[in-house]
Amino acid sequence: MSLKVLKFGGSSVGSAEALRRAAGIVRDELPAGGLVVVSALRGTTDQILDACAAAGRGDLATAQTILAAIQARHQAVAEELGLTQAVAPAWPPLFTRLDQLLTGMAMLGETTARARDAALAVGETLSANLAALCFQGTFQDVRQVMQTDARFGKARPRLEALREAAAPWRQALAAGALWITQGFLGSSPEGVTTTLGRGGSDTSATLLGEALDAEEVQIWTDVDGVLTADPSLVKEARPIPQMSLGEAEALSAFGAKVLHADSLAPGGRAGFRLVVANTLRPGASRTEILPVPPARAAGAVTSVAYKEGISLLRFPASAGLEPPLEAARSLEEAGALRFGLISSPAGTLLAVRPETHAATEVLGTLAASGVPCESGWAVVALVGEGLRADPVAALRHLGELGQEPVGGLLTGSSTVSMAFLVPESRLGSLIPRLHSRCVLGY
Ligand code: ADP
Ligand code: ASP
Ligand code: MG
Repeated sequence: MSLKVLKFGGSSVGSAEALRRAAGIVRDELPAGGLVVVSALRGTTDQILDACAAAGRGDLATAQTILAAIQARHQAVAEELGLTQAVAPAWPPLFTRLDQLLTGMAMLGETTARARDAALAVGETLSANLAALCFQGTFQDVRQVMQTDARFGKARPRLEALREAAAPWRQALAAGALWITQGFLGSSPEGVTTTLGRGGSDTSATLLGEALDAEEVQIWTDVDGVLTADPSLVKEARPIPQMSLGEAEALSAFGAKVLHADSLAPGGRAGFRLVVANTLRPGASRTEILPVPPARAAGAVTSVAYKEGISLLRFPASAGLEPPLEAARSLEEAGALRFGLISSPAGTLLAVRPETHAATEVLGTLAASGVPCESGWAVVALVGEGLRADPVAALRHLGELGQEPVGGLLTGSSTVSMAFLVPESRLGSLIPRLHSRCVLGY
């Protein structure tokens, strides 16, 4: 039997109305069972992180005020869905656990990545329990199967262990079960809760799709599929009906939040169909991500992506290659994303985004040791199969950068993307301009 995995993001489960809509989609898409992955209710993950930060400062009162708000909001949604009694067995122990974790952090006056992951799991588990009731499925804890390493805050999957642990899930789902589970969470080799990094539920869905031999994974979000640019910066952004896995990979790697950066690799390995659709408008256009590239005009750019919050580290040529390589390794080990490492006779440039507290600390240590380190940069990428087909044409797009204070070019001409560094303050005007000239105007 062919299995589908559906993933609903925070905004798709952010209110009673959204959950009802999602339930309709589950009924339509999974009449014979399947797996549904849900994120925490919209905003909950940020709230839990705020509560942890307050508790870590010793400010338990603020942490508990946030906890009360999380609790009230969840209860209100359950009530609107007529599920107050139904959530009664599952929810109170979760709220108690979050309270205890925050109290522990406040007593210690610190919050570790491991403790934060434990707290974050509460938001995902509250939501998955509620969604299971709302979708008339059965809740299963994803930590039974999502085996990861112990890098708290940005854990990496252990694929063999995941596949092995997923065997009972494969069986039950093949027999027609409708199971609802959490995204974002994993379990370390010692059985301790981990998280896959912010926005990681997309990756949970595709990793589960791979481990369960799914035929299709659907990512349900709040836009009509993958768009030609971030709609919050570009009003004219329009849906891309079909794109290659390579384009989707580049787009997410360079910051398009619609798909988590690690979410494409499982589809590349397993070959399932990957679809991005809009929970608010299920009948609207959607994006299908294909292993075989759709036809594109040579030189054409399909989309523009960006990511802010990048730091640049500059190493003089005299330092040689070992210090920048060592810095890149320790930053990545601590959870930083590396956007570029360029070396020339003039020196070496390392562009990273810290992502975790641990990586921010490593960055601080490097700066303190005398490595010139500038924050406030952004990476911008033009993405399209057409760039692979005609690398020389790609260089024409650089003309658009005109007077821009470009900090470095990050990719060569043989891939589906061309990326460069600009100051964050330039994004607001540069992204719409690049979109209208390079994507629409091509
Ligand atoms: P979810 O909660 O469903 O995971 P996210 O907020 O993580 O949703 O991702 C969806 C958001 O990604 C959209 O609302 C949009 O603001 C943003 N986004 C950025 N770039 C793109 C793009 N190229 N296409 C679609 N959405 C994008
Ligand atoms: N709830 C988590 C977050 O906000 C995971 C996700 O939404 O994908 O980052
Ligand atoms: Mg997301």
